[in-house]
This record gives sequence, structure tokens and C-alpha cells, in this order.
Amino acid sequence: MTSDALDPSAAGAAPDDEQLLFTVATVWREERVSCPHPDLLGAFLDGSLDPAAAEFVGFHLDESQCPYCNATVEELREREAASHTVTLDDLRDRLLRSTVAALRESRGRR
Ligand SMILES: [Zn+2]
Repeated sequence: MTSDALDPSAAGAAPDDEQLLFTVATVWREERVSCPHPDLLGAFLDGSLDPAAAEFVGFHLDESQCPYCNATVEELREREAASHTVTLDDLRDRLLRSTVAALRESRGRR
């Protein structure tokens, strides 16, 4: 039973394009070694990256058109926008809650 699972030909059902997908994925993973770390992409977005690194990241995104990093940047932008919205709502919520707490407190003192 275990030997069947270890032998890919025993499964027999693995189609050729699945093998190809695996190869592409493997190559892609190796290619990504040259990709800047997501932290760098984040720093690039908020402009805290040093000019030389920013140039590299910019080249990687615009000239190399790296789909992986462009997707990551897109995601980081969305998360950034979402976090700003949450922060604003959170702030309003906190303000409301502290106001209610202050009102309760002052009422309790009476
Ligand atoms: Zn990349």
C-alpha cells in the first residue's frame, strides 16, 4: 500500500500538464529567489527604502513586470488602504467608547 503511494506510475492518473505545472512552479519558485522581500516592497510603497534599493525594486516591478511582486504590491496597497479605514473607524469607536465611559463615570460620581 505504501509502496504504491511512493511510485508515481502506480497512481497512473497524473496527467502530463500536471507534471508541467509542477515544473513551472518549481522554476518559478527558483526565479523568485531574486525577488525583493515583501518587507522591501512595503518599504518601497511607503517611501522609506533607500534610493538604490528603491531603484532595484522599481525596476523589478516596472521593467521586469514580475507578476508575483506586482501582486504583492497590489495586496500591500489594499491592506494599507484597508488598515487606514480600520484605524479611522477604530479611532471613532474608541472616542465614542471613552466618551460613554467618561459619561458613565461622571454620572456615577453624582
Ligand atoms: Zn518579483
